[in-house]
Amino acid sequence: MPPRKVEKTDQEWREFLSAEQYLVLRLKGTEPPFSGEHYRNKAKGVYYCAGCGSPLFSSETKYDSGSGWPSFWSPIDEQAVEYAEDFSYGMHRTEVLCATCQGHLGHVFDDGPPPTGKRYCINSIALKFSAHSGEA
Ligand code: FE
Repeated sequence: MPPRKVEKTDQEWREFLSAEQYLVLRLKGTEPPFSGEHYRNKAKGVYYCAGCGSPLFSSETKYDSGSGWPSFWSPIDEQAVEYAEDFSYGMHRTEVLCATCQGHLGHVFDDGPPPTGKRYCINSIALKFSAHSGEA
């Protein structure tokens, strides 16, 4: 069954999110590289949407792309994310959105590692990490 959609008004998002989260998740901003909380995180666990709490990515598919943003070769479930064409800034990129709340997460590129060859380049601030229980 597809996840239940989370919908809020712009005002509700402004009140719910921090200013930095709002800028990325709702206004499709990008945090500066090497600035976020998660790009160096190697702990085992799950990355949840900072907007709605849906599970989006797993440490199992995280790798160090050297980009300064948390990078994954797959979402935790293809149903968890949606895609949109993005022609902003004179580039043609594929935007990655949370399927549940339509929050902007980042972009996906075709220069990732096996087995998918995909690089999900995701803003740390769009994610909340939760370590697997029993892990440090
Ligand atoms: Fe979400």
